[in-house]
Amino acid sequence: MIPFEKAYETVMQHAAPLGTEGVGLDEVLNRILAENIVSDMDMPPFNKSAMDGFACRKEDLANVLEVIEEIPAGKIPQKEVSKNQCSKIMTGAKVPKGADSVIKVEETEKVESDKIRFTGDNTMDNICIRGEDVMKSDVVVQKGTRIQPQHIAIMASVGAVNPQVNRRPNVGIISTGNELVEPDSIPGESEIRNSNAYQLIAQVESVGAIPDYGGIALDTSESTREKIGKSLEMNDVILLTGGVSMGEYDLVPEIMTKIGIRQKFQRIAIQPGKPTIFGIAGKKICFGLPGNPVSSFVLFELLVKPLLYGLMGHNYSPPNIVLPIAGEYKRKKSGRKSWLPVRINANGEVETVDYHGSAHIYSLNKAMGLISIPIGETTLQKGEKVNVRLI
Ligand code: AMP
Ligand code: MG
Repeated sequence: MIPFEKAYETVMQHAAPLGTEGVGLDEVLNRILAENIVSDMDMPPFNKSAMDGFACRKEDLANVLEVIEEIPAGKIPQKEVSKNQCSKIMTGAKVPKGADSVIKVEETEKVESDKIRFTGDNTMDNICIRGEDVMKSDVVVQKGTRIQPQHIAIMASVGAVNPQVNRRPNVGIISTGNELVEPDSIPGESEIRNSNAYQLIAQVESVGAIPDYGGIALDTSESTREKIGKSLEMNDVILLTGGVSMGEYDLVPEIMTKIGIRQKFQRIAIQPGKPTIFGIAGKKICFGLPGNPVSSFVLFELLVKPLLYGLMGHNYSPPNIVLPIAGEYKRKKSGRKSWLPVRINANGEVETVDYHGSAHIYSLNKAMGLISIPIGETTLQKGEKVNVRLI
C-alpha cells in the first residue's frame, strides 16, 4: 500500500501530451491550447470613441462648437478638428485628428443646426487609446489553457482561426462483474444495474477526452481478457471498474499481468478507493478502479482526471476553497487518508453529507466537493477551516 501522494506522482509521470492538431474556432471549446496565441495587431487598433457624442478639443469646451463631420463606427474620419470645431461621433468610431476628447451627447445642446455647446461641468477623455488593451505581438492566450468562450473571443479578435490544440485521449471504459446488468434492464435476483460505466463516460467527456464504452466483462478469465485486450488496442487509456479487490472472482490484476500490463501500484492508503490499480503497457495506460461507485467517482477525480488533462498538455489544479466546518466530524480509524463528500450551506459552512460508505452513490447527489482527513488524524473540530476540493 502506498500513500496517495506517491500514487499521484507515479501516475503523473506518464502524463506527456499526445500530439497536436489544428481546430477551427467553432470546435475548440474545452480543448487545450498547444501554442501561445499572439496578437497580430494593437487593440484597440485605433483611437476609438467610448461614447456617442462629439469629438473636440478640451480647451474649447467653454465655446460654441461647429459640427464639421459625422463619424459612424467603421467610417474613416475625413476632417481634422481645429479650434472651436467638433465632429459628431458614435461609440466604436475612430477619433478624428485634432480631437483630444469626446463629450457625451447627453451633456450637449444644439445652438444652431450645425452648432452645439457643452453643458456639463467637466469631462473625461472618453477615448480608448490605440494599444491600451493589447499591443501587437503580445501573448493573449497562453499555451496549456483550457479554452473557454472568453478565450475564443480573444482568438477571434486576433485572427487565430485555426489554433493548435492537443489531441484528446481515447479512453476505453469496461465494467466487470457477473452481477451487472445495463441500466435499461430490470435486474434479476442478486443483480444490480451498471452505474459506474455511465458515470465514467460522463466524467471522461467532462474533461474533454473521448470515451469508448466496451461493455460489461463477466468475472471469467476469457471475458475479462477479451474485453481488456480489445479496449487496449483501440485506446490510449483504459478504465476498468470492479474485480480489483481480494475476492476469488477479482481477476483484474492477474489478467493485466498476463496481457503484459505492468502494475505500478495495486493499493493506495486512501478511503474510499484502496484497491486501485495503475498499470502501463508500452505507451498505453490502464486503471483498475474499485467497483463501488463512490470510490470510482473519487479516484477518477483524484488520479484519472489530472492524468487525462496532462495527456492533453494541461496542468490541472482543482478549484479549492477554504471554509469552516459546520459541526464536529469524527472517524474511528486513521490509517488511510480519507475523502468525504461535502456541501456548502447557505452560511458558507461545510457540511458533510449523509455518507454510509463507498457504495452509497446517493451521497454524491448533494455533494459539491470533497474534503480530506490526513493519515493519523481522526477528528475535525467544529469551526475548523477545511480545504474543499470542488467537484
Ligand atoms: P468488486 O470490486 O468487483 O468486488 O465490486 C465492489 C462492489 O461494487 C460490489 O458491490 C459490486 O457489485 C459493485 N460494483 C461493481 N461494479 C459496479 C458497477 N459497474 N456499477 C455499480 N456497482 C458496481
Ligand atoms: Mg466484481
